Amino acid sequence: MGRVDLIGAGPGEPELLTLKAWRLINEADIIVYDALVSQELLAGITGHPELIYVGKRMGNHSASQAEICSILVQHAIKGKHVVRLKGGDPLVFGRLGEELDALRCENIPYSIVPGITAASGCAASLGFPLTERGLSTRLRLITAQFSQNHEIDWSNLARTDETLVFYMGVSKAAMISSELIKAGLAEDYPVLIVENGTHNEQRAIETPLKQMAATITANQIKAPALIYVGQVVTRVHRQSQSQVGAMIV
Ligand code: SAH
Repeated sequence: MGRVDLIGAGPGEPELLTLKAWRLINEADIIVYDALVSQELLAGITGHPELIYVGKRMGNHSASQAEICSILVQHAIKGKHVVRLKGGDPLVFGRLGEELDALRCENIPYSIVPGITAASGCAASLGFPLTERGLSTRLRLITAQFSQNHEIDWSNLARTDETLVFYMGVSKAAMISSELIKAGLAEDYPVLIVENGTHNEQRAIETPLKQMAATITANQIKAPALIYVGQVVTRVHRQSQSQVGAMIV
């Protein structure tokens, strides 16, 4: 029997990885990885693992979750040391539960190695805290890929003493801003959008809440991108004297 290590690859910059993750990646026979795993990280691997891509990008279909689970199980049963490498932290919006179920069902030994989630990585890169005494006492990580609008209690989210971070929110920006404003947040409440955070091509744009969707369209922001809503955003470290709505490099 082999084993499977479910590992967080961090938000993009290859060094944002734990020592344990890096050791296991270099010991693996097989690495099953997603679109969000940085190519630079993969290029630096010193072992000679077989690389299996299961993400979707550039028009290709991704493997289904069932196919991914089956790839993990089949290789482990054959005695291979498999690393399942996911962007950010596998414990955050990483479909970890389904993969754990598949491994447990077949009694396959596994470990989980947490990674730096995009919310932390991007905030670090832009120099602002996710919580701050007197400004934000709570942090919420929210997937924007909910199937029904009523799954979200917007009035509960529309608070001025916390930080909201929407993952997978680019296509839902108009709805997020209108719902939060309807629920009580000011139209000029601070928002920061970060595309490709911690990568060389990182872009970050401040916008008032009401303008969020228009800003995304005007700047052609694409996934992967995060939407931060909260007062901590005003603490971004500006390298230039940029105004609200201007680009921060
Ligand atoms: N497990 C990952 C999240 C996977 S969901 C984590 O912990 O970060 C995929 C979403 O994460 C993307 O659509 C985007 O919203 C966000 N994301 C991941 N990497 C990102 C990055 N480098 N910059 C901005 N957003 C990112």
